[in-house]
Amino acid sequence: MNFQTLLFALLFSVCLATSCSRNAVNQHNENAQDSSVADSATADPRATNIEQPPLDFVPNELGKVMVLEYHLIGYPEDRWRRTPENFRKDLQMLYDNGFYPVSVMDIAKGNLNVPAGKTPFAITLDDSSAGQFRYIEKNGGLIIDPNCALGIMEDFKRKHKDFPITASFYVLPAINPTLRLFAQPEYKKQKLEWLIKNGYEIGSHNWYHSMLSKLSDQEVQKHLAMFVKEIREFIPGYEAKTLALPLGAHAKNRLLESQGEFEGIKYRHEAVLLVGSVSSVSPYSVKFNPLAIQRVQAGEHTENPETFMKSQIKHNTRFVSDGDPKVISAPEELKDQLKPGLEKRYRIRWIKQQEPGAQANAKETISNE
Ligand SMILES: [Zn+2]
Repeated sequence: MNFQTLLFALLFSVCLATSCSRNAVNQHNENAQDSSVADSATADPRATNIEQPPLDFVPNELGKVMVLEYHLIGYPEDRWRRTPENFRKDLQMLYDNGFYPVSVMDIAKGNLNVPAGKTPFAITLDDSSAGQFRYIEKNGGLIIDPNCALGIMEDFKRKHKDFPITASFYVLPAINPTLRLFAQPEYKKQKLEWLIKNGYEIGSHNWYHSMLSKLSDQEVQKHLAMFVKEIREFIPGYEAKTLALPLGAHAKNRLLESQGEFEGIKYRHEAVLLVGSVSSVSPYSVKFNPLAIQRVQAGEHTENPETFMKSQIKHNTRFVSDGDPKVISAPEELKDQLKPGLEKRYRIRWIKQQEPGAQANAKETISNE
């Protein structure tokens, strides 16, 4: 099912459920759109003919976005380890609560093609242990272990066609063997190729998990460039586009986290991820910095994805898509939170609070998780 078909099906069911009694809302949305086209020269001309769907939710594309952070997948559950059962449970919780998977780069670039009413989120897995991607032999052949993170995600995706899971794996090419490129040396190349071919991202966690804060400027560039060099031995021409900082430690010169060079090997990261422990602001927020993206650590502790999700639903602070990647819609109370300049790339639609279903207290609660 393509996106348009999916959107149509969703809107059709919403329409049935609400007896299509929201023409007033439609009218208002169109008016709001007309009056808020800040740069008609650069706005997508197709957008002027959009028929506004009947909405039973308030889009809030200035709301919060979770970038989930996983480490080990296996037994027993602990601070840095999620069991396969709990990993599955997390995916189910996200699915059941209207989340929609996107990539880290989608968030970093603000390219969010998310169905109407859904909340984007991204999955990241650090440290390339075998529990994340393991091959096992079965009937003389090789299969992805159905209980490793990748096997679980692939199975979930097969069973939920409207939930196109992707993830970023922040791998380590030169650390001790238990964390080196998923810890099955004979399959290193095969695994990296499989991930790239199947729409997952291989991100940099640097050469061997060095704390960048302890390195000189030259060493920082060496450890980030050596990552690229090592991965290119398996995937020629590979470019690492995103970096997860080991232990969340910044380099003394933070500019070197995003670009640098060592012995002719250049790197350029368009997103840099921190280590837990809060949701990211919207990529359209004035506070958003793609070179310092917050993550939420999955687990049974108190600041886990479920806790943030419940709080964001309660306070109406989560990102809720309007379904159109070329339009940014949000309650007008949040006007001052829009990153300046975005009106050149997007149409902006502010939603008045007196509109049916709009949240009067959105501004007051946005600072809460
Ligand atoms: Zn790590």
